Amino acid sequence: MSQLPGIGKRTALRLVLHLLKQPKEQTAFLSQALLNMREDIKFCENCHNISDTKVCEICANYGRNHEVICVVEDIRDVMAIENTGQYKGIYHVLGGKISPIEGVGPSQLNISTLVEKVKSGKVTEIIFALSSTMEGDTTNFYIYKQIAETEIVISTIARGISVGDELEYADEITLGRSILHRVPFEKTFKNN
Ligand SMILES: [Zn+2]
Repeated sequence: MSQLPGIGKRTALRLVLHLLKQPKEQTAFLSQALLNMREDIKFCENCHNISDTKVCEICANYGRNHEVICVVEDIRDVMAIENTGQYKGIYHVLGGKISPIEGVGPSQLNISTLVEKVKSGKVTEIIFALSSTMEGDTTNFYIYKQIAETEIVISTIARGISVGDELEYADEITLGRSILHRVPFEKTFKNN
């Protein structure tokens, strides 16, 4: 229990004591639910978002603009952006950020499928929405270098939030605004 993120030893103990007080079936039910989650979970074959179907609800929705792709780290970012109600394109979930310190290289992330999508010519705009940390910036730049030759618009969300803030914690209005007022990606590094 204490190995789960955000759960210290004390909370772990409280959870365990709680489970021990419950009828045995309750624990059996929880264990089975956890197992089912691991077994049944799928990743959308188009955007790599967590989904219980082959193609996620967002990708399957043809009311959305499939030519605009917002690049995010994981499902939490998808949920945060969806909550703003301001974005009508689709997503591409990388599954993490490039981090030499943590031993995460580009090949461990869903980058090649994004580059393929862009080169297929069906995409008009890519919006980078990774957190503005060193890892986020490195990842943006790595992807940018692979697609810079193409004709598509490459933008990044205009951040009203401070550097290093995770997307997840940005308030909906700020995040919604930053998507609407996105800026060309090149501007974020060429003038510096
Ligand atoms: Zn999808």
